[in-house]
Amino acid sequence: MTSVSPHKKARALKSTSRRPAKELCSECGLCDTYYIHYVKEACAFINQQIGELEEETHTRSRHLENPDELYFGVHQDMIAARKQQPIEGAQWTGIVSSIAIEMLNRGIVEGVVCVQNTKEDRFQPMPVIARTPEEILAARVNKPTLSPNLSVLEQIEKSGMKRLLVIGVGCQIQALRAVEKQLGLEKLYVLGTPCVDNVNRAGLQKFLETTSRSPDTVVHYEFMQDFRVHFKHEDGSSETVPFFGLKTNQLKDVFAPSCMSCFDYVNSLADLVVGYMGAPFGWQWIVVRNDTGKEMLDLVKDQLVTQPVTSKGNRKEAVQQSIPAYDKGVTLPMWAAKLMGVVIEKIGPKGLEYARFSIDSHFTRNYLYVKRNHPEKLEAHVPEFAKRIVGQYKLPE
Ligand code: FAD
Ligand code: SF4
Repeated sequence: MTSVSPHKKARALKSTSRRPAKELCSECGLCDTYYIHYVKEACAFINQQIGELEEETHTRSRHLENPDELYFGVHQDMIAARKQQPIEGAQWTGIVSSIAIEMLNRGIVEGVVCVQNTKEDRFQPMPVIARTPEEILAARVNKPTLSPNLSVLEQIEKSGMKRLLVIGVGCQIQALRAVEKQLGLEKLYVLGTPCVDNVNRAGLQKFLETTSRSPDTVVHYEFMQDFRVHFKHEDGSSETVPFFGLKTNQLKDVFAPSCMSCFDYVNSLADLVVGYMGAPFGWQWIVVRNDTGKEMLDLVKDQLVTQPVTSKGNRKEAVQQSIPAYDKGVTLPMWAAKLMGVVIEKIGPKGLEYARFSIDSHFTRNYLYVKRNHPEKLEAHVPEFAKRIVGQYKLPE
């Protein structure tokens, strides 16, 4: 007699039902499946367990005494890279899509979990299991909104797939790792991106309307290493807005509460992470966490130009000054913001130091958010590495 897995008796929540993590839910998609059975252990916002899952995934948790691991997690290599021939319409040069296509074409995996958009709305996420390169390409570029990538997990078990690649952000990957053993796979590959300051669809609209000159024509945007937000519009034109000119007072409530409480910016549990923030402007930043990640990167190495990562400047003072400024919602007049942008671009942190600047700024903000809004969660929810990072700064009450 075959026994039925306990989760198969569980029922996905209706889309309108309140999620177990309540307002902290990042809509990762787990609760849209019968894997909701494991939510109390698996949810990144109910049971933070990065250290334990690092050990299971990478055979050890990060060395807290190693300054690079403290910030960027367990890794065996970090490089800067870009595609010799970038994929048109990708977020950066398309390294993520290229790895996924290569894995499918070579038969290493049978499917790829990634996120396309709906026909009606380019920013409305639509998670899929891609089985062709065309379907992977249709998922290129960020959907800068909370995306229920794990909502397709039931389909995986039903399809009988045994080798799978999942592309996702930290909260999705934490829940995925927690249920990995229940998926019935022979091999799971995880390709992660860093993620921060995500929003729901309404929040995205508010961000675009308060920040861009033409919110309806934005096809792509990114907070870049030159301390500016770069927007690309439908007609191919671009627009930049200095970080220091953002209307912080109006934008304070835009970011999702989940993202205001997240300390997994660098996607600690992926095998391979592809972002940009530790690399020079125009380049992507790659963190190889384990042998599986190396195997994935090796598949596209001949399509890349690479260079070693570097680090320049000192972020500490800029971070310390930004803490009370953000807290009070200070917005500079545009001329001053532009000037400050030019100065900080010339003398400010670069490469890995820019990545540390961004991590420090977000972790201090998020620590204050959790302390003020969910004090009972502070101790268990903030991982030890984040406590050490935040501990370098003086925080307001
Ligand atoms: P592409 O080849 O264009 O592929 C992008 C992939 O992202 C697609 O496969 C798609 O499935 C997946 N994707 C798109 N939207 C989502 C989503 N909402 N949730 C999960 N997966 C998604 N990097 C940094 O260094 N610092 C940051 O602060 C940072 N913030 C980010 C915030 C968000 C919301 C996202 C999705 C990514 C962020 N990144 C960040 C990663 C970076 O913007 C690029 O996605 C990454 O460098 C890959 O670029 P690419 O050209 O190789 O990707
Ligand atoms: Fe469920 Fe994911 Fe929301 Fe947690 S974050 S409550 S696992 S959907």
